[in-house]
Amino acid sequence: RPSENVRDTWAEVDLSCISRNVRAIKSRLPAATEFMAVVKAGGYGHGDIQSAHTAVQSGADSLAVAYLSEAIQLRRQGITVPILVLTPIQPQDVPMAIKHRIQLTVTSAQWFEQAMAYRNIYPKLKLIVHVKFDSGLGRIGIREKEEWEAMVPWLKQADVEVEGAYTHFATAGSTDTRYLEQQLKNFDKMKGWIDQSGVDIRHYHCANSAIALRYPELAMDKVRVGAAMYGFYSKELVPDLELEPALSLHSRLIHVKRVSEGQSIGYDNSYQTSEAEWIGTVPIGYADGWSQVFQSSEMLIGGQRATVVGKIGMDQLMIRLPQHYPVNTQVTIIGKQGNDQITCAQLAASIDGVPQEISTALSARIMRINK
Ligand code: PLP
Repeated sequence: RPSENVRDTWAEVDLSCISRNVRAIKSRLPAATEFMAVVKAGGYGHGDIQSAHTAVQSGADSLAVAYLSEAIQLRRQGITVPILVLTPIQPQDVPMAIKHRIQLTVTSAQWFEQAMAYRNIYPKLKLIVHVKFDSGLGRIGIREKEEWEAMVPWLKQADVEVEGAYTHFATAGSTDTRYLEQQLKNFDKMKGWIDQSGVDIRHYHCANSAIALRYPELAMDKVRVGAAMYGFYSKELVPDLELEPALSLHSRLIHVKRVSEGQSIGYDNSYQTSEAEWIGTVPIGYADGWSQVFQSSEMLIGGQRATVVGKIGMDQLMIRLPQHYPVNTQVTIIGKQGNDQITCAQLAASIDGVPQEISTALSARIMRINK
């Protein structure tokens, strides 16, 4: 157990994996394409400041987060590269953004009208924005020409700098590319509106991980890569690339017992032993982000698989051991033991989710230890 951790469950984040992943992704892109590393949600659960530093040291030009609060946290910890906030902020928070030189996503003229009332607090600093276009995801952004035209006068104000115009795809990881093509067509049409208006856009961007890896020709001026830099990508869709998952999760048995046939294990008698079985208790539960949906999933112990039996509790769960193992034996929940490996991608597939859903769910109660 790493000495700084007084708990028997911990995550290891191998920052050299993130570094190699960033370099590998960059090497596939046109040399002029900028790399924006997405470190929202605590660096997809890997630690935001550590992921940010590693990405920048490995060639990232800028960062993106979801919320202004995340951006300010990074600034307070000494991050100086440009940071884009991907979600609209409250107009009254604009002075905070300007003060910390945070770039904002803007989606409506109405927002500008309210926000610009606050700009004079830092008269010498510009408000730096990226305009978001909704080309088909249906989440946030400009959809109609009139919405764009209403925003143009605000974008032409002397104290506003338009750093980017961007969109986000709904089906970037799908083999069926018809909807993607439709979104690209829509974004092209929107670029036409921009050209007609005379607003000067420094950078166009549309590519997340899946697009950057599958279609480098769509990288435009900048890519916004999250998942892939942590090692989350589809090997089937990008067979000529090797990225490594950076995060592993480990624990130790805190209790081991031999149980006879027909005994109940877990809340609500959710498991009955079908024969005499070795049962081990692992100190991780749903309050750590290890949801009850992982009942019946597997963990690695002594290079073998052990199944989670019974309902997962808030802090502890039970596994059926393939043989006797003593208390304190290491259990690998995500990661490698011997020739076997359990990945976030496999766990996600079993719950019809995405790998980053698993890593971001791991709560602050689990210490992240950097390797
Ligand atoms: N761009 C936007 C607008 C996003 O919301 C996200 C993440 O959800 C990303 C880029 C990064 O996507 P990915 O993690 O697939 O690279």
